[in-house]
Amino acid sequence: MIANTPIRAERIASDIAALAEITEPGRPYTRRAFTPKFLEGRAWLEQAMRGAGAVTQIDVAGNLIGTIPGRHPELGTIMLGSHSDTVPDGGRFDGIAGVIAALEVARALRDQGVVLDHTLEVADFLAEEVSIFGVSCIGSRGITGTRPAEWLARQSDGVTLEGAIGAVGGNAQRLGQRDDIKAFLELHIEQGPVLQEQKLDVGVVTAIAGITRIEIIVEGRADHAGTTPMGSRKDALSTAAWIALGVEELGKALASGTAHFAATVGEFEMTPNAANVVPARVRMLIDARAELREDMERFIDELDKGVVAIAEKTGVTVSVPRLVSDNPPTPCDPDLLDILDQACESAGARHRRMASGAGHDTAWMARITKAAMIFVPCVDGRSHAPDEFATTDDIALGAAVLLDTVRALDAKLQEEN
Ligand SMILES: [Zn+2]
Repeated sequence: MIANTPIRAERIASDIAALAEITEPGRPYTRRAFTPKFLEGRAWLEQAMRGAGAVTQIDVAGNLIGTIPGRHPELGTIMLGSHSDTVPDGGRFDGIAGVIAALEVARALRDQGVVLDHTLEVADFLAEEVSIFGVSCIGSRGITGTRPAEWLARQSDGVTLEGAIGAVGGNAQRLGQRDDIKAFLELHIEQGPVLQEQKLDVGVVTAIAGITRIEIIVEGRADHAGTTPMGSRKDALSTAAWIALGVEELGKALASGTAHFAATVGEFEMTPNAANVVPARVRMLIDARAELREDMERFIDELDKGVVAIAEKTGVTVSVPRLVSDNPPTPCDPDLLDILDQACESAGARHRRMASGAGHDTAWMARITKAAMIFVPCVDGRSHAPDEFATTDDIALGAAVLLDTVRALDAKLQEEN
């Protein structure tokens, strides 16, 4: 339990339990964006927002927004939020903890009789997870002017994304880019084991890692596996195996510094994949994530050189690694990080700075405003699975940090004006 805070852990627990009940039958916990269960969850959230004294609306991008007008709305908006949609067979906390923590901040302010000078908004972003349309962060991209126009024609079950945004109450034809948001904060479960391992309460997120995906094709030659002598083969798989081990080694080397780095051979296809045939071809897709752009550039450079060396050694043709996608890291706002550190101190939260290896709505919000996020521990780092778990006290402590930060920002943002 946390002392001296108006944040009430039991309200957070009961909200999370209520949303957990709203799931596809027999598939806990599934509430994918645009589905009837998602809309049911939103209807519940809308009531909860109104109960906290907020005026609710669905914005043009399809986000559910609860607004508590400030005493001086012309100062602009402080926005808190995350997402209520889940992956299929997901957890009760990913995204949801952040929406409920934001809601609890609004309730705690109301309980104390505090009306901020800035307008406060609680946001449930539309479709943060990869949706039935195959794309993610649809709502946060929508209000930051970063949703690609061509996405609107994407279809799922005969419905376009444009139609689906309309069906949840948005209007994809209208430009939703906001210019009144002065700061954005998101609480999220860590989805990794670091905070638990280090017995910490809060991770103050320095940056959301950039994600680069790289495709490599290895072209060997199909031959009879019984008759072709070992010295006369062009085995695509054994060459690909050297590359996979090289990726791991390079990833470990880059991860040994203080900045976050991870590299994974996530997709791997071998043909013909038959017991009696020497493997002819391998396609591999590497997912690499870096807090620092220079680490990613070094990875790409070393990988390029490494595959040339491996191809020379094995005599098998390896394609030049192709960048399928390449997004830079998004640093969080340094001033917000300092305020969050201070808020952790005053709430008595043991904290550290860390990067996020996963993507989040915060990365898009950072395009238009000062943005930052905090992590709270999740048990054994499990996420995107039904056993995902975070304790109510940990979420409540994170909410207390948010509350303190919001109050500090309400004063500080005015000084900056
Ligand atoms: Zn999430």
